[in-house]
Amino acid sequence: MEQEQQSSQEISKKAAKKEAAKAEKLRRRQEAAAAATSGVAGVSIEGPDPLASNYGDIPINELQSKSISGRVWTTVSSLTVEQKDQSVLVRGRAQAIRAVGKKMAFLTVREKGYTVQCVLTVAPDAVSTQMVKFAAGISKESIVDIEGIVTVPPEAIKGASQQVEVQVRKIYCVNRAANVLPINVEDAARSDAEIRRHLEETGEQLVRVNQDTRLNYRILDMRTHANQAIFRLESHVLNLFRQFLLNEDFFEIITPKLTAGTSEGGAAVFKLEYKKQPACLAQSPQLHKQMAICGDFGGVFVVGPVFRAEDSYTHRHLCEFTGLDVEMEIKEHYSEVMDIVDRLFVEMFDKLNEKCQKQLEAIGGQYPFKPLKYLRKTLRLTFEEGIQMLKDAGVEVDPLGDLNTETERTLGKLVAEKYGTEFYILHRYPLAVRPFYTMPCADNAAYSNSFDVFIRGEEIISGAQRVHIPELLESRAQECGIDVKTISTYIDSFRYGAPPHGGFGVGLERVVMLFCALDNIRKTSLFPRDPRRLEP
Ligand code: ATP
Repeated sequence: MEQEQQSSQEISKKAAKKEAAKAEKLRRRQEAAAAATSGVAGVSIEGPDPLASNYGDIPINELQSKSISGRVWTTVSSLTVEQKDQSVLVRGRAQAIRAVGKKMAFLTVREKGYTVQCVLTVAPDAVSTQMVKFAAGISKESIVDIEGIVTVPPEAIKGASQQVEVQVRKIYCVNRAANVLPINVEDAARSDAEIRRHLEETGEQLVRVNQDTRLNYRILDMRTHANQAIFRLESHVLNLFRQFLLNEDFFEIITPKLTAGTSEGGAAVFKLEYKKQPACLAQSPQLHKQMAICGDFGGVFVVGPVFRAEDSYTHRHLCEFTGLDVEMEIKEHYSEVMDIVDRLFVEMFDKLNEKCQKQLEAIGGQYPFKPLKYLRKTLRLTFEEGIQMLKDAGVEVDPLGDLNTETERTLGKLVAEKYGTEFYILHRYPLAVRPFYTMPCADNAAYSNSFDVFIRGEEIISGAQRVHIPELLESRAQECGIDVKTISTYIDSFRYGAPPHGGFGVGLERVVMLFCALDNIRKTSLFPRDPRRLEP
């Protein structure tokens, strides 16, 4: 045993020595390369370079907001044949660098997911061999400034999004990335179809970056074309949600995320101690948005984090997601709330399809999907009609129970076949499967004035008319096993005259996931929180 330990210690000492020697060799080599290529010093082992000022690492003090040069910057995405022969200045990341001998190098420069091929060809008074060497030595993902002339090659460019090249005249490294990256952005950007095709054509297995690795190194994963598009699209969804409601005379309110008591029921919560009192992170803004209606706000919406401590290890549940919540007075019927859902989402889908074509293409490039099918007037089916459709298709379901994920999907398919839509509303749910604050139906108390909304057979919204009579609210809470003492301020707010009202809650990440038919909600949450993940 002791002998074994000794020998393993010797081995690790030897390995450490070897590593140190390797590191020293690398350091010396890097120093020599830096001296050879430094545009600042301009002296190289191949002799002084008259073009030395056209390349090099930008010294830190130049990057400390020292001066404003007035130079004009061009974005990579805007580079087209129209700029032919023009001189442009771009900043981007060195996605791929390939030297061809000593006289030529290709650099794929990426900015916000768009890429352009930049070429260095040794030529008198334009590009020196030292400059090519400098470019070839830049580590992947380093930030570079490139000045050059736009040219249009005769053949289509395969490895870049922009169909022009930049003939480099100046190249500066703004900041270097580590030499070894945990994941390669090109690997993370590859579609499964591309990996399959490459394997079939060449027999070579390309790297496939799995979901967990992507999330561990999210900031590298974020740099892919598809991810740039997903999160931009998400921002559009947020914006369209806000714009539509503001135009309808709703306004945005902010509700507390720290709440008293232990839960409003339904979902598991993250409990915490609030100055020695039991408290929890809000599982929704439900109670406070309703209280705002009792305060005569008429129509409100809330955008914010929602916390659920459920142990849901599924493709569509997170422990923290973004809730888009609406609450409004109604005059007569909960269909007034469904009308808002209908118009809000049809307008949102229209505008996403119209304004976000680039993003949708970028997402589809990596994760192919068919555009969402939806009707001008959203289909509304009652829960009973849905159950009947399932029964007719031979699916056994409890008529007064909830639908599980599988039956929801099956119903989604049946609805798509029969009505030609992948977006629809199912309403009049059994009362027993809805939260205590849901208004029972007037004609049959086994049902409720509630609805769920589905995209491609998966739930994105729950909504309902709420109980506005405090006595009924109290008895419903008790029936649902909720300790009314813990929600007394909520119930009391209905004692001073509350208008009939209703509302709904949408999960932002689910909307984006399902609109783009993505297979996992973690793809639409920037830094997802699930039962196994609290970092990064
Ligand atoms: P599910 O049945 O899918 O668990 P739910 O009935 O618990 O959802 P609600 O509490 O009514 O959902 O929340 C409203 C909306 O919030 C849902 O339709 C969904 O879009 C979103 N949502 C709910 N729970 C989660 C979660 N854990 N992760 C992400 N989004 C969620």
